[in-house]
Amino acid sequence: MRKLFRPVAFLVVVAVGPLALHALGVQPRSLVLDNVRIIDGTGAAPIEQGRLVIEADRLARVGPAEKVPVPANAERVDLSGRTIVPGLIDLHFHIENDPKLALRQLSHGITAFRDPGQWDEKFVELRRMIAADHLAGPHIFTAGPHIDGEHPAYPADSVVARDPDEARREAEINVRNGASALKIYFRLPFASAKAVIDVCNAHHIPCTAHLEILEARELIAAGLHGIEHVTSFGTSIVPRNQAEVYRQAVLADNDARRDGRYRLFASANLDGPEAQALYAVLRERKPWLDATLAVFERRADHPEEGVKPEMVPVMAAGFEKMKQLTRRAGLEGARLVMGGHSTVPFASRGEAPWRELELLVESGLSPLEAITAATGTAAGFLYRSDELGNLRSGLKADLVVLHDDPSRDIAAMRTVERVMVGGTWVDIARYRTY
Ligand SMILES: [Zn+2]
Ligand SMILES: [Zn+2]
Repeated sequence: MRKLFRPVAFLVVVAVGPLALHALGVQPRSLVLDNVRIIDGTGAAPIEQGRLVIEADRLARVGPAEKVPVPANAERVDLSGRTIVPGLIDLHFHIENDPKLALRQLSHGITAFRDPGQWDEKFVELRRMIAADHLAGPHIFTAGPHIDGEHPAYPADSVVARDPDEARREAEINVRNGASALKIYFRLPFASAKAVIDVCNAHHIPCTAHLEILEARELIAAGLHGIEHVTSFGTSIVPRNQAEVYRQAVLADNDARRDGRYRLFASANLDGPEAQALYAVLRERKPWLDATLAVFERRADHPEEGVKPEMVPVMAAGFEKMKQLTRRAGLEGARLVMGGHSTVPFASRGEAPWRELELLVESGLSPLEAITAATGTAAGFLYRSDELGNLRSGLKADLVVLHDDPSRDIAAMRTVERVMVGGTWVDIARYRTY
């Protein structure tokens, strides 16, 4: 059964953080969050009786209470029994035409996100809302439109490059317009994809890709930094003749992916020679893997509407294999991160990141490993480990206060009581109406 939202008494938190005091002309005091379990986002064991000192928008000190002195004149909040985790980073968030969804996700603890392929114009309204509410976040990372080949999968979200020169040109324009990553889409031929990777390396930003019918082993070996969707490995884990049937079907019709990817996975042998060749590349290059399991979740007991009855068990079996491959890829060297994908079959509005974390745990990660994927490792994929993702001094004060302990049960990520971004508490009651 689907894990339902647990009833929790949500606190209405008034913004009286250091920034608000500053705005009133008051000398900013330190804020101390005390007697709290701290999960710092590195994968280290929780600190049971922890203390965090926050000054302005930064973490000043973090550690066991006996080692962190309370500054004079500090405002102190006792959080006995609660757990603090770093603000979550959603690396696959589609804003589409719904800027309010980003603020609803903020109220669920997502303090940063990357949209992997969208025109910059789509973020104007969200940036306006953030400024109007004097929020420090969510921190927005963009990639510009997808760089795809002819007959793009999502024309409205893409630029089309017909050869490596065009690919290089479009990539440079995206970077000039503020992209902090670039995204390759699957109809881009190999040489053009390589040109985009080269632009990323020249600007020191990550290149990520939805591969599907591009060969993951070759592109990762050519320097691709990240993979969106575990299904990007589909053609790399089956024999070449079978992969080619799928490739031709998708080239003829983008919608052939819908059933075809589940057939590929259901029949794949994760110990076969093709998969072994993939693992060898993962071990060598250690790419980031944003599996986005939640968007592919299919269950025999809750079949999708309109699916042919004979496909129901194939889809459930294919999804099981996707989870297995995610775990296996992580064990072989891929760096697992978290991407919620905005709208997914088995999560309510704004809850896709929570569902993704639960599916990472169902795949075999420990709850702590799943939290690290969504925090410390995710910041690494943004190339922002010096700013975000961990609870340590000097980093942004982006954090989530949970009623329950997620290191025991990842579903406790749903028990959000407070969210802080850039040192300021977020009015979560309000954004939960968004
Ligand atoms: Zn995609
Ligand atoms: Zn997507």
